[in-house]
Amino acid sequence: MSATLASSVIVAIDGPSGTGKSSTSKAVAAQLGLSYLDTGAQYRAITWWMLTNGIDLADASEIAAASGKPSIVSGTDPEAPAISADGADASGPIRTQEVTSAVSAVSAVPEVRARITELQRTIAAGAEGGIVVEGRDIGTTVLPDADLKVFLTASAEARAARRSGELKGKEATDLAATQQALAQRDKADSSRKASPLKKADDAVEVDTTELTLEQVIECVVTLVEQAAARKAERLEKAGQV
Ligand code: C5P
Repeated sequence: MSATLASSVIVAIDGPSGTGKSSTSKAVAAQLGLSYLDTGAQYRAITWWMLTNGIDLADASEIAAASGKPSIVSGTDPEAPAISADGADASGPIRTQEVTSAVSAVSAVPEVRARITELQRTIAAGAEGGIVVEGRDIGTTVLPDADLKVFLTASAEARAARRSGELKGKEATDLAATQQALAQRDKADSSRKASPLKKADDAVEVDTTELTLEQVIECVVTLVEQAAARKAERLEKAGQV
């Protein structure tokens, strides 16, 4: 059931892996009737395309040269997120360990970021009723004028436990290995030169360590409703509605 907001809003939700970012972003968008964009899925899809097309991921210049080649298409329905690369459904393959381990090297290449950032801005600009965009650099780089910026955090232990719960079979049992892999990916994402993972100065930080997913969703829904009301008031004052 979706509520009606006082105005259409652009919401940026950033943070490291395992903070509940995707589940929260999808649920908030669905509840409030907004579109949804998973930008991590876009970086994963271009990584999958490169892996399947024989690009040497140890060579940044080869990644850069290939960055414009695949067509990456994202769906924006929070109830049915979809992603394809050159027309092939990528939603399954982008979640494999192979892609997860390779994605940080690909997403650190400036030509890849420029290409994907442009796609993200086009999608956000075309989302008429408002959109929730989740990622690492949405509030800082992709949509610096977003109506609301949220930065989700959680302790390293809580993040590893959540991610481990999402994995199946053998991978799920090795909590220490999950924690190490997450820490490595966060380090790579936070220390790269091009648009690193970073909280925007004007983002609201929500520490999810002690919260259930439902509590995080409720908190972000309230923040979005407040941002929409503020925007409606601003527009009314400016005589634009
Ligand atoms: O969110 P998810 O774990 O699917 O993101 C996969 C990877 O995509 C991240 O580890 C990061 O390297 C990259 N990413 C990024 N910028 C974003 C979203 C994701 O660099 N806005």
